[in-house]
Amino acid sequence: MASSSLPSPFSETTLGLISPTSIPPFKRDLYCWVCHVDGPLLKCKTCSRAYHRNCANQLGSLCHTAEALMDTESPSPHFMKGCPECQMGTKTIFPNMKQAPIQELRLICVAIARNLRDGYFWPNPFYKLDTEKSPKEFQEYKDIVAKVVDISELEKLAGNDQFVTLEGFLGEAKWILHNTIIVHGKCSREADCAKEIIDICELELLAAELCPECFLKEHNREKDELWFIKPCLRHPHPLGWAKTPSNPNWPVKIMGWTPGSSSVTVRSFGDYQRFDIPPSKCYLYMKNPPKFDSHRGERGEDAKLAQKEAEQHVTELEKVMGKVRLPEKECRLSSLGSLDNAIKFMFPELERIWCPNEDEEEDEEVDKNTPTSAPNNNLERDDDVANNN
Ligand SMILES: [Zn+2]
Ligand SMILES: [Zn+2]
Ligand SMILES: [Zn+2]
Repeated sequence: MASSSLPSPFSETTLGLISPTSIPPFKRDLYCWVCHVDGPLLKCKTCSRAYHRNCANQLGSLCHTAEALMDTESPSPHFMKGCPECQMGTKTIFPNMKQAPIQELRLICVAIARNLRDGYFWPNPFYKLDTEKSPKEFQEYKDIVAKVVDISELEKLAGNDQFVTLEGFLGEAKWILHNTIIVHGKCSREADCAKEIIDICELELLAAELCPECFLKEHNREKDELWFIKPCLRHPHPLGWAKTPSNPNWPVKIMGWTPGSSSVTVRSFGDYQRFDIPPSKCYLYMKNPPKFDSHRGERGEDAKLAQKEAEQHVTELEKVMGKVRLPEKECRLSSLGSLDNAIKFMFPELERIWCPNEDEEEDEEVDKNTPTSAPNNNLERDDDVANNN
């Protein structure tokens, strides 16, 4: 978890003090966070959001019911100690990100905001609410919404370490959608755009959860064309041959396999596509590709290039992970039972490298996804880039 001295993910700037009481100086939302309609609302004590009781319960099923969130010490019966969104913003549901250092969270959130800014064409006002060109419109907008958020604001908050979890970032991004629906209506072109922004955020956050190191390397790929060949140091990915929807067998990185899940996520060398496939359709990597089914003719040039890239990756892995053990005969991923077992098989020296002073016999259950003594990666360099832009 992130340090407790960090700012709350919702330490909002004051947009309008509505009552000089002991209540934090947030401008209270007059519209429900869930259905975006007004009415009698429960207010959150720690952020601007407000909810219909039923709507809070609907969202609360993810954490707590509205009743459990009510602030019983408040003289007003309409206050919640912390709303469902605040609850989600302070504790991560993404296991890989649970122990992510704050600078990594910052880089991920900044990268998502920048990608939203530069990677798409949005009609105004999603990138930056234009206060100068149309001050009257902006004032009207500011009067209606409780909190002004646009993509540039997200980037600024991310750069200032205002998000201690990825969920906190998503919760803040949702203001864009909420405000847009209030101002333009649910069935507007603007609302469609805002929904797309949230969809993109969610996809990006899932990619960051899959491997934060891959995520950041990919977002900085113009600075390093070998980004896919470089190993991920905190989350090493075993290699495999996978039967993907477009190829009979293709060299891949095995990115994720949730325990009990019937699919593994792999990423192909060569074109870096992501696929979810059954573990039975993936073999641990070896020099010669396994014969998945009746052979489908000669392997193409791109398949050979992809394999060359996989071999380069093995060489890079050996520099930091020690020996890379490849099976002597075909070994289906499903026979290993878990991603951890695949990691242990392929990188037999990893535990010694990560925990050089610990008794290996006693520490069999070390969680490979969240090592405490991982080698440093190149965060510092990216960090500087993030601060300078
Ligand atoms: Zn509602
Ligand atoms: Zn709240
Ligand atoms: Zn990775």
